[in-house]
Amino acid sequence: MLLEVKDLTLSLMRQGSYTKILEDVSFTVQKGETLGIVGESGCGKSMTALSLMKLLPDKAKLFGEVLLDSEDIVKLPRKNLEKIRGDQMSMIFQDPLTSLNPLHTVGKQIEETLVLHTNLNKSQRRNRVISLLKEVGLPRAEDLYNEYPHQLSGGMRQRIMIAIAMACNPKLLICDEPTTALDVTVQAQILELMNHLKETNDMGIIMITHDLGVVAEVCDNVMVMYAGQVVEKANVIELFQNPKHPYTKGLLYSIPQLEGKIEKLGSIPGTVPSPENMPVGCRFYDRCKYAMEKCKLETPPTVEIKDNHSTACWLYEEEVRENELIGS
Ligand code: SF4
Ligand code: MG
Repeated sequence: MLLEVKDLTLSLMRQGSYTKILEDVSFTVQKGETLGIVGESGCGKSMTALSLMKLLPDKAKLFGEVLLDSEDIVKLPRKNLEKIRGDQMSMIFQDPLTSLNPLHTVGKQIEETLVLHTNLNKSQRRNRVISLLKEVGLPRAEDLYNEYPHQLSGGMRQRIMIAIAMACNPKLLICDEPTTALDVTVQAQILELMNHLKETNDMGIIMITHDLGVVAEVCDNVMVMYAGQVVEKANVIELFQNPKHPYTKGLLYSIPQLEGKIEKLGSIPGTVPSPENMPVGCRFYDRCKYAMEKCKLETPPTVEIKDNHSTACWLYEEEVRENELIGS
């Protein structure tokens, strides 16, 4: 297993006291797998990603395990983390313009990662940069080396970010809404590139997105988050065809369907509860049309619906118990 995350729990200091942002988040990513993380904003998708990289504020408290090739990132001292970030694990974000330095050339910015993580000499680094630029599908690689970010289009800049992320052949690439700022055609090209890189480099990808088109295009498995917890996990086809959690159903169905094509996550009446005011029982209670009395009082257990499909909802407790009886 490339990545194994177990019971990841994160608390951040807010206005003088600790607030739990993530609770018992568990999942795995294999080599050559893309795991999608979906949910509304404020559900903990980005915080999950930042926790994996330990890019967290000073007073953050992180518990649980993040095993990358069996090495626990949560326990690693800061010094060792810098070796892992950019080398074994890289991240790309939504807006390439704010992530790139406007004062440095493209070549120099890709080279920085190589200086940090490799022993390549200057001419070797230059060669590597040129071949990376080609690998991410950019034309005129030699000229680009000396150009500045503002001279490039949004799509080209995102390719540069991918080149930086890929510079050291990471085992795991974490992408937070990487195509949200791009127009549809460019978005499709970037997704195609990511699929290609995943296959040729045999790496794992975590794709954070609110766009179901992106999920359908690149993800093998999907994890749905709500209010800092995982509410459902399944293979992508299974999740689209047989969603179980009322929140997942809401995301998939509450949207106008154009000729059967689902584009964006739907909007469900109500809002995500704030971390300061988490309900005691099911966190989706206020917005759930299937809510029962016990949902309000008790946290729903996570139940295995079938192989590689689980959900945290009281509706399925009976179903699973019956299956167990039949099996015993
Ligand atoms: Fe709805 Fe209850 Fe399931 Fe929560 S546990 S999603 S309130 S049915
Ligand atoms: Mg986010």
